[in-house]
Formats: sequence, structure tokens, C-alpha cells
Amino acid sequence: MGNITFTMIKPTAMNKGFAGKILEKITDGGFRIQAMKMLRMSKADAEKFYEVHKERPFYGELTEFMSSGPIVAAVLEKENAVEDYRKLIGATNPKDADEGTIRKLYATDIQANAVHGSDSDENALIEASFFFSKKEQFDKDGNLI
Ligand code: GDP
Repeated sequence: MGNITFTMIKPTAMNKGFAGKILEKITDGGFRIQAMKMLRMSKADAEKFYEVHKERPFYGELTEFMSSGPIVAAVLEKENAVEDYRKLIGATNPKDADEGTIRKLYATDIQANAVHGSDSDENALIEASFFFSKKEQFDKDGNLI
């Protein structure tokens, strides 16, 4: 049971001005922000990040979308972070997401589903290091991890 997960606030949610509300849900949910930044991925970045999905029919559309505008990327700390964050964000398709979840509240559709959340402890570490160096990640006392 790991204590970090990785998230992104996706371009449509950023464009709609939901970043603040989503971050509030995250911190109210008991997650501590260990690292955070706003950036725009290149198409190549998005293709690398979503490489596991490259055989899926939506890979091209998804990587176009994820590189279409700025995102917020963050590493979140909490006990049981991966599982608890998946609960907080809700199902991939916002139509199936429970009431009160981030995707139910702020998603547009299955692709523009407001946020990313890691699906395993192993991927959380890989995804965190995809975006953040050790000099950009802080413990609860404000010291470098
Ligand atoms: P997640 O772990 O809940 O984000 O879901 P997946 O790992 O299955 O998919 C990764 C991302 O691909 C999702 O968050 C969506 O943005 C996108 N996605 C998933 N399924 C579909 C689909 O059927 N069509 C499109 N266009 N995008 C999808």
C-alpha cells in the first residue's frame, strides 16, 4: 500500500476554470500536495505518457487532447493514495461516476474526464518521475523528499 499517487487536471477542466475547485476537493479529501506544476505537454510527451494505451482506438484522439492546452500535474500523498484517489475521482466515464466525485462534478465526457489518477503504486512512481525531479517534491515539513 503506497502513499503517493499522481494526478493531472486535464485541458478541458483547466479551460473551464475548475482547477481551484478540483484542488480543493483533493485537499479536503485528505491528500497533501507533494509536488505541483502547470505545463503543456507536447504530442510526443502525451504519446509517451499514454504509451500503454497505444493499441487502443482512442490513442490518437487522447494524445491530441492531452497536448491541446495546459494541465496541472501533481503528486499527492496520503495513506492508500492510489485507491483512495480513484474513489475520489470516480469512474472513467463520468456518466458512471458516483455523485460527489470529481469526474461527476467536473468532467465533460469519457475523454475529457477532468482528471487523471494513477492505477497502481508502481505507475504512481513512474508517472511522478515523468513530470518531477527530486528537487520538486517536498515532504510535510517542506524539505526535499
Ligand atoms: P482511467 O484510468 O480512469 O483514466 O482510464 P483508462 O486508463 O482506461 O483510460 C485513460 C484515459 O483515456 C481516460 O482517463 C480517458 O481520458 C481516455 N479514455 C478512456 N476510454 C476512452 C474512450 O472510450 N474514448 C476516448 N476518446 N477516450 C477514452
